[in-house]
Amino acid sequence: MSKDPVHVIGGGLAGSEAAWQIAEAGVPVVLHEMRPVRGTDAHKTEGLAELVCSNSFRSDDAETNAVGLLHAEMRLAGSLIMSAGDAHQVPAGGALAVDRDGFSDAVTRRIEAHPLITIQREEVPGLPPANWDQAIIATGPLTAPSLAQSIAEATGADALAFFDAIAPIVHFDTIDMNTCWFQSRYDKVGPGGTGKDYINCPMDKEQYLAFVAALLEGQKTEFKQWEGTPYFDGCLPIEVMAERGVETLRHGPMKPMGLTNVHNPSVKAYAVVQLRQDNALGTLYNMVGFQTKLKHAEQVQVFRTIPGLENAEFARLGGLHRNTYINSPTLLDRSLQLKSRPGLRFAGQITGCEGYVESAAIGLLAGRFAAAERLGQAPSLPPQTTAFGALLNHITGGHIVSDDEPGKRSFQPMNVNFGLFPPVEAPKNEGKRLRGKDKTVAKRRAITARALADCRAWLGLPARAEAAE
Ligand SMILES: Cc1cc2nc3c(=O)[nH]c(=O)nc-3n(C[C@H](O)[C@H](O)[C@H](O)COP(=O)(O)OP(=O)(O)OC[C@H]3O[C@@H](n4cnc5c(N)ncnc54)[C@H](O)[C@@H]3O)c2cc1C
Repeated sequence: MSKDPVHVIGGGLAGSEAAWQIAEAGVPVVLHEMRPVRGTDAHKTEGLAELVCSNSFRSDDAETNAVGLLHAEMRLAGSLIMSAGDAHQVPAGGALAVDRDGFSDAVTRRIEAHPLITIQREEVPGLPPANWDQAIIATGPLTAPSLAQSIAEATGADALAFFDAIAPIVHFDTIDMNTCWFQSRYDKVGPGGTGKDYINCPMDKEQYLAFVAALLEGQKTEFKQWEGTPYFDGCLPIEVMAERGVETLRHGPMKPMGLTNVHNPSVKAYAVVQLRQDNALGTLYNMVGFQTKLKHAEQVQVFRTIPGLENAEFARLGGLHRNTYINSPTLLDRSLQLKSRPGLRFAGQITGCEGYVESAAIGLLAGRFAAAERLGQAPSLPPQTTAFGALLNHITGGHIVSDDEPGKRSFQPMNVNFGLFPPVEAPKNEGKRLRGKDKTVAKRRAITARALADCRAWLGLPARAEAAE
């Protein structure tokens, strides 16, 4: 068994967690962090695991919130990020918010003090040299340009998306199917399709005109720092299309042609919003062509005026992001390893997860997988029923690739959410079916109880009643 270290590039949320997990498994690590030798557009300090924007790890409710569940699983797995977060918590209702400096200092001190971790403050300018046989790239959305270039060359020119507009994603069970219907345009079956692959939301003329007006009036996010950056694939935000003329959307993503409303076949819709299945489980649907830079609160308000989406819950809202990430479902194997270069893994936001906690969670998994390999063991993958497994599955394979928009990269960064988990039957209350919010809460509790039990089993921890978590 080799005693060579595992090299981790990037000491952010993911890289710090990965280094910690590897060292805790008894394997030496070299952590390469370029700050303060070279900075990024967003980082302000030289601390490890610096939070570049908000100080929140979001909800800490492990029973009914997916990110709260991920917190709980990370704590079970001995996460450094969670332990430093818990130690530096600030009041924030049901959320886990942290004192950002105290948090980053704690992570930095514990990494510096670990006997198996060496920190090298240097930029890694390209892919790891061949003698780094186990390495993890965790350089985040602001990966230094020269390494980003090397990754792009190694993975194919279209594999790195630099600038991006994303469309909202809706939980299927919040769409009113008494108003909407399943149908592909012109009933086209297409490869792997059934002719009923889209959900369609019909609008009459009055609804359409009001919708376009609301898009034009809605407050947009300012994109100051990176203004002038081209949109990926020329994919324009919907409100930019609306600015080109009142009919533009009706001839673009909202065209009604080839669609017949099964609930009202004799009346032709004036415009149609289409949603496309977004994950293999069929629990999430994305709004086709609805990339937007409307402010989040505005999006919820305007998109809930779409017939059938009045009660829509959004797994992700649209937005404009500068994002460096790889096309993980194509490029990585299930253990986050580059298929074309065994021993080289990716972790954190560069893999296409979104958010501090998710990035750290993927760092935790990559670290464990790399340590296992160094110890001569096969990486142990978390079950898909856990938050770890659901997130990993989204990144490495759970995403549906669109056949009808060839060339369009459909893998998009996403926060952990319940739509990524295999569904459960809603538990009954004294033999009666639950409805509405009670049903949603009961399903979430069932998912989180199953996840925590399965996570404990995966980690080799004794089973425990979930109430005690
Ligand atoms: C402007 C902005 C605002 C954001 N706001 C939020 C928010 O409010 N909430 C949220 O949850 N998420 C937010 N995110 C997303 C956030 O970046 C990620 O959630 C998280 O920081 C990603 O973790 P990471 O470890 O993948 O990357 P990072 O935390 O960015 O860590 C990457 C590290 O790699 C280092 N590095 C880069 N290139 C090299 C190189 N070649 N050699 C050596 N080191 C290198 C960097 O210095 C950095 O320390 C934001 C992102 C950006 C860009």
